[in-house]
Amino acid sequence: MVCIFYNEEMDKTTEFKKLIAKVASETNTTLPQGYQYRYAPYNCWKCGKEIIIFKWTDSLLAGEISEPPAPIPATLKQRHTAMSDETYWANVCPSCDSVQGDFFINHEPDSPFFGLGEVVDNEKAFNEDMEQIADYYYGQIVSWPTQH
Ligand SMILES: [Zn+2]
Repeated sequence: MVCIFYNEEMDKTTEFKKLIAKVASETNTTLPQGYQYRYAPYNCWKCGKEIIIFKWTDSLLAGEISEPPAPIPATLKQRHTAMSDETYWANVCPSCDSVQGDFFINHEPDSPFFGLGEVVDNEKAFNEDMEQIADYYYGQIVSWPTQH
């Protein structure tokens, strides 16, 4: 977990963008331009490294079947499930190659994309979503001040 000193006066969204840029640079992740993606810092469930995870336009609730918009971030990779014989796109940790499960990043109440709707490709929706993700991210940290 990255330590952040948060206070009410801070411009959360600006600080959040700086944090994302820092984590992206540390993990050699290129952030997409435009408004077809949402992204957030996230601790890999397996190795604990802080990475960037993505959500994109047309990503489906039932699994990330649709191909992400180009250029596709390097940490989004195609995986195949033998069980349901499906190919899907997953956020993969650049450090340990583990898939960051769709359920845990989208649907768990403490997940970064919890409560976000479908990703809409325009600036207004992008800013609103990123603000919500920032609120959520800092909310989690403020809730657990002793776990840094
Ligand atoms: Zn990892």
